[in-house]
Amino acid sequence: MASELLDTVQSKLSKASKELKDLADIPKIKGMPMLLGNITSHDNEFQESIEDLEVMWEDVKNLIHYFFCSDCNKFISTKYYDSVEKKIRCRCGKLKYEWKI
Ligand SMILES: [Zn+2]
Repeated sequence: MASELLDTVQSKLSKASKELKDLADIPKIKGMPMLLGNITSHDNEFQESIEDLEVMWEDVKNLIHYFFCSDCNKFISTKYYDSVEKKIRCRCGKLKYEWKI
């Protein structure tokens, strides 16, 4: 489930990068109604509005922008880890965050 995936990312960031953890604000994404379990399937009174979806999509896009570089079309990865600066980065280096390995 999405919320479990976010938990995994959050706990990894807690250990590896306070900088990225603070930027990404995963708890905000996790607090979204659509990710709070089975509200939509079991509660008929719950109605998602287009506005809610738009707000959620903006937040998700903002989150992804911290991990995905539109310049080199790569996610940040330990593959590009800078062992001198101790930072994780994307391929071109535009995105760069402190990272403990
Ligand atoms: Zn890049």
